Amino acid sequence: MAERPDYYKVLGVGKNATDEEIKKAYRKLARKYHPDRNPGDKQAEERFKEISQAHDVLADPDKRKAYDRGGMFSGFTGAAGGFDPSQFSAGGFTGGFGDILSNLFGGAGGGSRAQAGTGQRPPQARGRDLETEVSLSFDQAVNGTQVSLSVPTSKACPTCNGSGARPGTSPRVCPVCNGRGVEAQSQGIFSINQPCSNCKGSGTVIEHPCPTCEGSGAQRSIRKLRVNIPAGVRDGSRIKLAGKGDPGIRGVPPGDLYVITRVAESEIFKRNGDNLEVEVPLTIPEAIRGAVVEVPTLAGSKRLRVAPGTKHGTVQRLRGEGPPRLAGKGNGDLRYRFVIDVPASLSAEQREAVDRLSHVMNGDPRAKLFPDGRSQSKAGER
Ligand SMILES: [Zn+2]
Ligand SMILES: [Zn+2]
Repeated sequence: MAERPDYYKVLGVGKNATDEEIKKAYRKLARKYHPDRNPGDKQAEERFKEISQAHDVLADPDKRKAYDRGGMFSGFTGAAGGFDPSQFSAGGFTGGFGDILSNLFGGAGGGSRAQAGTGQRPPQARGRDLETEVSLSFDQAVNGTQVSLSVPTSKACPTCNGSGARPGTSPRVCPVCNGRGVEAQSQGIFSINQPCSNCKGSGTVIEHPCPTCEGSGAQRSIRKLRVNIPAGVRDGSRIKLAGKGDPGIRGVPPGDLYVITRVAESEIFKRNGDNLEVEVPLTIPEAIRGAVVEVPTLAGSKRLRVAPGTKHGTVQRLRGEGPPRLAGKGNGDLRYRFVIDVPASLSAEQREAVDRLSHVMNGDPRAKLFPDGRSQSKAGER
């Protein structure tokens, strides 16, 4: 067994660190040592793997508990995702082994999705789903782009070629499920197929674990990918890359990779659903008399006619000139919201003009607020 690493030390947090503190420490370190920022720096890459591994364990409440209890971890850890980890306790927490096996069901519901699909098919063992974030400029998000990603993942262990068994030995067919990987559990009148508790769904058991990977069959690595980001993504969009997650170790299919987009805000265009909103200031005379104003569009600019007597907050739309809709067809709208620009200070000439305007605007716009007549001030009183 390899020496158990101090994951708290790796992330530079205390033993009592909150989830939030762990997440924060991880993000900070991951940013610093990310292979994209340190091209060719092997040391940084190793450090990045270490950090990812520590985060895998400490960010997962169950694994953290097991780790705090002194459970052993192999060099490879997976998330138990959509499955209740207690399912896996039947075989005991057998060091790296138990942990690795939970990995086979890992991620955002690989198994539960299979279950939801037909209601009958057994949950499928798959590689872990992975998630990574990518930062985009506003323009990249609107127009689509291609990005390079370095994803911490795992690959088949070179010592055992992914079998998990010590070279010269081989995994044995699981005696509990006879290699099917599932066992039926009755719940009331239903019988539900569960991943086999003995082999955790792989269909085989390893009696002599490989010394390099401790039976997981996997080794941490970093995969570089080029990913097409479709036009129209927003902050927080999830792009699924099927089969690009952790490879299925020991013969199971790979998981999926989810790319979460982080989109920088635009100074000009504000997202609102499928549409973008632009605030367009009008001078007081423009609002009163109407005008033709130039407004920005995604492609450049357009001229909009502002009607005489336009009120503060009036919205004009350019239909279909917004960003592409991700789900449906076509594009969203550009919405221009006119706001009346009230100057904070006036020149002597402007003050005189406003005084003259005030003198001729002699109705009381607030009279309707007092249908019974006003007691304190009279209309037009200054
Ligand atoms: Zn191995
Ligand atoms: Zn089994």
